[in-house]
Amino acid sequence: MSRFLLRFWLIAVTAHFFALGTFSSGMAQEARVFASNYPLAYFAERISGQASLVHFPQIDGDPAFWEPGAADVIAMQQSEVILLNGAGYEKWLTAVSLPLSRTFDTSTGFSTNLITLPEAITHAHGGKEHSHGATAFTTWIDLTQAVAQAEAVHDALADAKLVPQATLDANLDSLRSDLKSLDGKLAEVAQSIGDSPLIGSHPVYQYLARRYGLQIQSVHWEPDVPPSEEMMAQLQSLRSTHPALWMIWEADPLAETVEQLAALGIASVVFDPSGNRPDSGDFMSVMEANIGALRRIAVSLSN
Ligand SMILES: [Zn+2]
Repeated sequence: MSRFLLRFWLIAVTAHFFALGTFSSGMAQEARVFASNYPLAYFAERISGQASLVHFPQIDGDPAFWEPGAADVIAMQQSEVILLNGAGYEKWLTAVSLPLSRTFDTSTGFSTNLITLPEAITHAHGGKEHSHGATAFTTWIDLTQAVAQAEAVHDALADAKLVPQATLDANLDSLRSDLKSLDGKLAEVAQSIGDSPLIGSHPVYQYLARRYGLQIQSVHWEPDVPPSEEMMAQLQSLRSTHPALWMIWEADPLAETVEQLAALGIASVVFDPSGNRPDSGDFMSVMEANIGALRRIAVSLSN
């Protein structure tokens, strides 16, 4: 094959994959910014002021355990800005080569404050095993870290010059003030909860606990999987030293699980980290609902 034909063939194959990507992941034609989770996508949408610029793939389940397909990889590589959460969030990163100059890890600004987990937590549910890795990755539920990530998104967008600088600056100011307001509300409700022990249904609440001084210890449960006898026994053993009256879930748990827990004197609430795009509302409304859930805990503990 001549050099010209080879090049043509490569372009044709790439274009074909890209077309597949456009079709399968619903990537808008004008999307030029890739985000690896919903909080980053939301920040990029707010700061750019142009939601259509931003591509966050449709992912079934938690984006922290996403495995991009070939078309996703090509879509990513063709983006002008690739926004990563960092903190070990993108487990697929080792298998994908990305253009360094266009790739932005939004948690590098606070990399020395990341929480190292004592051991990699691997567990299976619904037949799907996953590992939480060596670093806690739900960085943005410490809202001061969310602010730092939003600022990193702003700087990445400024670097790419896709949107006028003044627009980026003004939109960042507005987002930052919203995030700081959430931070204040979380601090206030957490103060009312005080040292009361809480149980997390999944090991994703480390930064929330640290920032707001909540006493959260976690089990490894899934909202849509009923707990086994062994899991119930582990919960009881945890409660002997950590007598929690509330369990915090990532999403609504099964009604039977709620009843089982209620029988033990444990009530359930949802604090959704919002790693994936919500069915309705947006990052702000999900966080407001989370704050409402924590308020229910505070009120009940004060009675
Ligand atoms: Zn897990």
